[in-house]
Amino acid sequence: MAFSDQLIDPKKDPMGAAILDYARTGKAARLRVLSSMFEEDEMPIETLFRSFDEMPAIEQEALRMAKGKILDVGAGSGCHALALQDMGKDVCAVEISPLSVEAMQLRGVKDARLVNMFDARFTEKYDTILMLMNGSGIVGRLENMPMFFDRMREMLNPGGVILMDSSDLKYLYENEDGSVDIDLNGEYYGLVDYEMRYKGVRGGKFDCLYVDFDTLACCAEACGFTATLVKEGEHYDYLCELKIKD
Ligand code: SAH
Repeated sequence: MAFSDQLIDPKKDPMGAAILDYARTGKAARLRVLSSMFEEDEMPIETLFRSFDEMPAIEQEALRMAKGKILDVGAGSGCHALALQDMGKDVCAVEISPLSVEAMQLRGVKDARLVNMFDARFTEKYDTILMLMNGSGIVGRLENMPMFFDRMREMLNPGGVILMDSSDLKYLYENEDGSVDIDLNGEYYGLVDYEMRYKGVRGGKFDCLYVDFDTLACCAEACGFTATLVKEGEHYDYLCELKIKD
């Protein structure tokens, strides 16, 4: 979504505003999600504040596997960082939303930083890099994969891994007879454009990538990484482990 050192302007951050409202008061207004591909939808704020027990099994598995120095990328309300702290693990949470960072600090995330993970000035290295709740979304488009893996190579300690979840959106295009309507000459079918609105706050449009496992594994291979399918979820979602090839 945002490469280089870009951060989100708090005046244009609907999701951050909703997260901070909820962190402060336990309530939030409607967070509206718009896309040219779907009917208007709403994101229930409570889901962004899920506890370990409320998390999908693939996220729980990622938290169990996370070890050493852990980086939670695009940490949102800090739900994963807090669960990891409870497990006694060492986690740093990064966000490009100043409002989300404020919410994380309020909620007790010990190391919450306002940092874009693509910012070359951020030079720390990690044993586990977590990208959860469609973590591939931050990559934005398939064309950005080489840049993403280059950056990951800089940020991983020797033997380190990335744990990323995503979904195969193929089911959206499936007919009853099992055939699939996907235009192979068009954009990749997992590319979704979004725009969010909260109270009077409008964010800009952004690309969000949902990547099927085979496509992710091909990109990883081309970029010197190996992808292992760790666990499949209940609805075409999965958790994947990415490692630098020996
Ligand atoms: N992981 C959280 C939130 C996912 S939403 C959860 O599971 O609940 C994705 C988050 O990533 C947003 O809050 C957005 O502000 C943040 N983000 C997007 N691009 C980023 C980047 N380049 N570096 C750090 N955070 C980023």
